[in-house]
Amino acid sequence: MLEGIAKLTPPLNVLDHVSHDADRLRIVAEFKRLDDLWRLDADFRAAYRLDPEKTLSDTGLNIEPEAFHLYINPAETEKLLCDIREGRRGEDALPKSLLLYHRALWERKQRHKQMREVHLVPDEPRLRTWRARQDRRLRLQLGRGTADSMIKPPLAFELSEGCSVGCPFCGIAAKGLRGIFRYTEENAAVWRETLSRLHALLGGAAGYGICYYATEPLDNPDYEKFLDDWYAEFGLVPLTTTAASVRDLERTRALLRLNDEKGHYFYRLSILSPAMRDTLLAAFTPEELLRAILLPQFREAPGNVFTKAGRNRDENRKDAVGSTISCVNGFVVNMQEKTVRLETPFVSDCEHPTGEWFLEKCAFTTASDLEKQIRRMIVRYMPETLDLKRPCGASCDFRLEGKDGKVGVSARGGSMILLQNSMEQAALDTLQDALRERRYTGRELLNLLPEGTDTMMNFLLLNLLWYQGLVDQTAE
Ligand code: SF4
Repeated sequence: MLEGIAKLTPPLNVLDHVSHDADRLRIVAEFKRLDDLWRLDADFRAAYRLDPEKTLSDTGLNIEPEAFHLYINPAETEKLLCDIREGRRGEDALPKSLLLYHRALWERKQRHKQMREVHLVPDEPRLRTWRARQDRRLRLQLGRGTADSMIKPPLAFELSEGCSVGCPFCGIAAKGLRGIFRYTEENAAVWRETLSRLHALLGGAAGYGICYYATEPLDNPDYEKFLDDWYAEFGLVPLTTTAASVRDLERTRALLRLNDEKGHYFYRLSILSPAMRDTLLAAFTPEELLRAILLPQFREAPGNVFTKAGRNRDENRKDAVGSTISCVNGFVVNMQEKTVRLETPFVSDCEHPTGEWFLEKCAFTTASDLEKQIRRMIVRYMPETLDLKRPCGASCDFRLEGKDGKVGVSARGGSMILLQNSMEQAALDTLQDALRERRYTGRELLNLLPEGTDTMMNFLLLNLLWYQGLVDQTAE
């Protein structure tokens, strides 16, 4: 670790309010197990509908039937919560187990927000500005709720090339496993130097990166050794998402323990079939899976939603706009292939079938060369302010229209924002068409607008569009 760089403070443990009390911890863990069954097991749901009390009692979990009934009927719970908030009823109107579980879920949401707004913000100012602009663009494309629910680190490492799992729904269409970056003496030295250099360049946000992307982390037999170095550099182990949790249950158990002791407030296990669900739930106690978000990734699961991207994109509807599972808003470094790519999440469409916008991919040779390439891309793609001398292009398909004395901007399949500006529709159309052509500098764009339009307002509008991540510029 470079001198002078402090270790990270992990986001507060999401279960702080119960972790000191074994009884409360058990209640939250058992409630979560019921929640997992509800989202993952259609048979459990069907049996519950026929006979709730017997079905709950058969699980052996000690949660009051009334509490679970309220949980799966949020309108009833909300009404009770409203009564409590407004003083018509006391807190005992809600069962204690439900209150504790709601609090745990609420805390997880707060930690997500804290991660997004504090921990993932890089020190490097141009990267910081660029990421914030891409976030705004994504909010317009996906809607604020969906865009903000994604954790988008500025940095990801792939410790293998391709993925052995081959999910038919893979939203980033990962190719098959072709090579693994083993923890040899030479590779370990490159790895440690890489972490140290990127820590110095991006600051603490680098430590909130991930060590997988279009890869399965557990394909690498040395994954945990790389995590040890990460911990030595940053003081916490990175978030893991794996679809191979039942391949070696003892390896998974050790990884979960490592995460609980030194990692984040959550990690994710993709559940790919009913058999995988049953194996996992039989092998681990509710307490062991307390911080595990179980992703229902098979059709029969009641909570399943496959994202329309990558291999799951609707190829019959070429014009369809889907969503994205891509989560890196910055650099993806493949240590095996020795490449780095700059990319950001995008709605999946014909041009971006995997829901990713790739700005550049290039090779590197050493850790110092990697740093050099990343610095070069930052200069090339991430101006800190709109540069009127550079060509401007529309970063996505959006429409400008005059609305109530303001300018409305809407993206295909997404939402609308209103900008404090006004312009005639003909001028807005001219601006929009010229941005699509991507060949005019900012100054030329302003000159293209019809005579009589207010130059200052035009300049302001162009800046607002740039700020929203809807106009991008690349240095030559
Ligand atoms: S979804 Fe994940 S585990 Fe499945 S093929 Fe894609 S990268 Fe691999």
